Amino acid sequence: MTGVNNVCNQCPRHCCANRESKPGYCRVPSGFAVSRCDLHPYEEPCLCGKYGAGTIFFAGCNLQCVYCQNRSVSHADEYVFVSDDTLIRMILDLQESGAGSLDLVTPTHYTARLSTVLRKVRPKLKIPVVWNSGGYETVDSLRRLEGLVDIWMPDMKYFDPALSARFSDAPDYFEVASAALGEMIRQTGIPVFDDSGNLKKGVLVRHLVLPGHRDDSIRLLGALDRLFPDHPFLLSLLNQYTPEFAQDSPYPELHRRLTSFEYGSVLDVADSLGFEGYRQQNGSASAAYTPDFTKSVTDLVERYGCKTRQN
Ligand code: SF4
Repeated sequence: MTGVNNVCNQCPRHCCANRESKPGYCRVPSGFAVSRCDLHPYEEPCLCGKYGAGTIFFAGCNLQCVYCQNRSVSHADEYVFVSDDTLIRMILDLQESGAGSLDLVTPTHYTARLSTVLRKVRPKLKIPVVWNSGGYETVDSLRRLEGLVDIWMPDMKYFDPALSARFSDAPDYFEVASAALGEMIRQTGIPVFDDSGNLKKGVLVRHLVLPGHRDDSIRLLGALDRLFPDHPFLLSLLNQYTPEFAQDSPYPELHRRLTSFEYGSVLDVADSLGFEGYRQQNGSASAAYTPDFTKSVTDLVERYGCKTRQN
């Protein structure tokens, strides 16, 4: 939480930055930094309704994965400053434009501030609120959101501490993220759909299979099966890894695409363990699915009069 002397401790980094004067590990100030606000048709179908999920991409990230597929956002290269009132306008505009859900993307480093905003805007919302996070968050901070989030959509990225240390500087990733997942399940319970197949509440876990690391994916699935034997969540297995974003990383396995053998072998294990959820088709791995954030930032300046970090 942002606490004594305005230091930020709201994520497991506990870096105690005073974000009023200097960003912490997540690279952004205490006020909202937003890189995109728009309908997004490529989320899981149960979140999109007719026109797409209403996504708000927050700049910065507390993980900074070396292969990040939204690097200009996580590195906070491109964003606008957004007041709490403007964020509320954005949320209501997304609902007005037919969004199937309010999809808050990479929100963890704004947990405290978002709990205040969501408390104000929730009475006006008819669509579910989705917390679309990297999964690296504390149980204490998630408790601040109790009753404010309908659908938790955390990543579960790694099982092996050495791998999470290498790619995300977070050796405790699985320990932290699995505890967070337990809290999310406690808050919303099992997935509930409406008659049209839209998810109304529950937990949807995403896992991106990484090239060269299918063994870790398989160990992760085994661990989730042991920890949550009733599978009280949906599992979305992603094959959309694109190497373009990791060409300068020192890890050669990240310089290529995932093979269909690698993805298929993880799918087989998920099926044999009885996980239900979403699978991707071949051809999902394209940088073209990554939004143009430069255009998005220009759009936010025009629509909401926001200032960019360069202004
Ligand atoms: S949210 Fe950012 S500033 Fe706060 S503890 Fe985490 S990384 Fe540090």
